Amino acid sequence: MQLLRPDSLEAAAAALGNGSVALGGGTDLVPLLRDRIVQADTLVELRDVVPRGVEGTTIGAGTTLAELELNTEIPQALREACSLSASPQLRSMGTIGGNLLQATRCWYWRLKYPCFLHGGSTCHAREGAHREHAIFGNERCASAHPSDPAAALLALGATLRTTRRELPLAELYRLPTEDDRNLTTLEPGELIVELDVPQPEASTYLKAMDRSRFSFALVGVAVARVGAETRVALAGVAPIPWLLDSPDDLDRATPLPGTAYKVELARPLIRRALDAVA
Ligand SMILES: Cc1cc2nc3c(=O)[nH]c(=O)nc-3n(C[C@H](O)[C@H](O)[C@H](O)COP(=O)(O)OP(=O)(O)OC[C@H]3O[C@@H](n4cnc5c(N)ncnc54)[C@H](O)[C@@H]3O)c2cc1C
Ligand code: SF4
Repeated sequence: MQLLRPDSLEAAAAALGNGSVALGGGTDLVPLLRDRIVQADTLVELRDVVPRGVEGTTIGAGTTLAELELNTEIPQALREACSLSASPQLRSMGTIGGNLLQATRCWYWRLKYPCFLHGGSTCHAREGAHREHAIFGNERCASAHPSDPAAALLALGATLRTTRRELPLAELYRLPTEDDRNLTTLEPGELIVELDVPQPEASTYLKAMDRSRFSFALVGVAVARVGAETRVALAGVAPIPWLLDSPDDLDRATPLPGTAYKVELARPLIRRALDAVA
């Protein structure tokens, strides 16, 4: 395997495709390569070309979660979501760009079952073990989006700049369809460059997990109050980060038998988060 270290963003983007994949901190990609879920002959190292650091409301996609968790200039929800993600070692390597694009943790997918997301016709989780899976948007694929920061950024109304366009974070994600099994709208060869994260009046992130540390969200709740509007977004409940129109949306969830508990877990977390930003 080759490691390319391009000296410009343009060169990095041009090097992608045909067996070349982008390497951020490698905390998600390297295990996927090791397990041969992702096949690549060239890794394109982004470290020298994707911006890193925070300037005003702009966050470089190469900024690590550890740097964000300590930065008091950024909204509290994002800081808290970063500090509750993974372990200190992973946070010091993992970048915010890579975090938004991390692959699903669904064990069937990671064990290479030929499931819907891998191009097959069945979601094995619907019939099999699915305690950590989705309660919304789970008709075809019942995976639960693993990123805590993505939910925080969704509630905060963040926008992304890529090598090709600017888009609201919400438009980075999509539910898979028969014709297109991708969970993001990122095109081949497109890189996330930076994020714009407006400051809300108040925001917070709460997370229910199996252990108090180093565990993916069973349910993560991000709330941001911007003027008269309060936005609520969830992690761990749908194949993509999930924005609620109101807490009453929980009454319209479509849990699987083994995920119904997540609806009841979300209710008090949302209440507590709303109280915290009121
Ligand atoms: C044991 C474990 C526990 C974890 N727990 C949590 C948790 O609780 N909460 C949570 O949110 N996350 C968790 N994570 C995920 C972790 O936060 C991510 O692995 C990490 O943030 C990914 O960042 P990275 O820079 O290492 O990405 P990489 O592994 O380098 O890349 C991930 C993907 O993004 C692509 N990519 C990277 N940067 C860019 C870019 N700028 N533009 C376009 N594509 C890019 C890569 O090609 C790859 O497809 C956990 C991970 C592990 C291994
Ligand atoms: S939840 Fe999604 S990733 Fe998991 S088995 Fe079903 S289709 Fe595959």
